[in-house]
Amino acid sequence: MKPVAFDYDAAASLADAREALGARGPLAKIVAGGQSLGPMLNLRLARPQALVDVSRLPYLRRVSDEGETLLYGSGVTHAEIEDGIFPDPTPGWLPAIARRIAYRAVRNRGTIGGSLAHADPAADWVVTLTALGAELVVVAAAGTATLPMTDFIQGPFATALEPGDVLTGVRLRKRGPSARWGYWKFTQKIGEFAKASAAVLIDPERAEMRVVVGAIERPPIVLPEPEALIADPDRILSALEQATVSNPPATLALHAAAVRRAIAAATSPNGKESAS
Ligand SMILES: Cc1cc2nc3c(=O)[nH]c(=O)nc-3n(C[C@H](O)[C@H](O)[C@H](O)COP(=O)(O)OP(=O)(O)OC[C@H]3O[C@@H](n4cnc5c(N)ncnc54)[C@H](O)[C@@H]3O)c2cc1C
Repeated sequence: MKPVAFDYDAAASLADAREALGARGPLAKIVAGGQSLGPMLNLRLARPQALVDVSRLPYLRRVSDEGETLLYGSGVTHAEIEDGIFPDPTPGWLPAIARRIAYRAVRNRGTIGGSLAHADPAADWVVTLTALGAELVVVAAAGTATLPMTDFIQGPFATALEPGDVLTGVRLRKRGPSARWGYWKFTQKIGEFAKASAAVLIDPERAEMRVVVGAIERPPIVLPEPEALIADPDRILSALEQATVSNPPATLALHAAAVRRAIAAATSPNGKESAS
């Protein structure tokens, strides 16, 4: 199938992009890497009258050091993170996550901001950036807002973005040498979205600990009492049962296994991210 006809506007600046979006109203859509929107256009699941292309905006393609945090422009690609082109606020976790997104061709074009704005529950950045406590910068008609991931992702393929809003940045805290991390996703083959995923952060220096479950038909689940779960992984299944409504036992067991493996990776002597 082919997309319905649309106008195309390659924005030269953020102001241009916002003006074009404002002029077109809700019938315009932003396109960044096009890796999620492209297939939706081809299948006519999205039928915008106009696309506003933000992929060339230098403002969205840089990373700024803010001291305690780094601000990633939303247009930074998965491949740029994989290649370590920009400073990494973590001890190597971001390139390891990026490396396992789809194939290199997708990673060359797909952007961190596009992935978050698309809000596929199985997307790697959606679950991992929730665990890392990322904040998102959104430029809207009313001004610039900063939202935690837990407010930004509102459901499967649903975010706090309103028509005309631009996600401009992802703010991440720098993690010191005592911080530990585990990420596990189940996929049947490379390039496939996860069937279950979990990410674990243990950062004693920042007094932050999170156990997050992804690839479930709702926003990522931040499980309560992470310390108790990490100390006693036998509690995971009942914690998941309480946090999710009516999931088949086999699905819950798969998610529980992902959580168990992410915890094992985070608490292993190396504290390394683990592969599926
Ligand atoms: C074959 C294939 C396999 C894949 N496998 C995986 C995988 O294993 N894991 C994974 O995480 N992802 C996977 N993806 C998705 C990939 O990561 C995409 O890059 C990502 O989901 C979308 O990023 P994009 O820049 O291409 O966004 P686009 O496709 O351009 O846009 C996606 C959506 O976000 C909106 N948007 C984009 N940028 C902004 C912005 N700055 N502000 C506001 N709204 C914006 C668009 O309007 C659109 O609604 C896969 C994709 C393909 C094609």
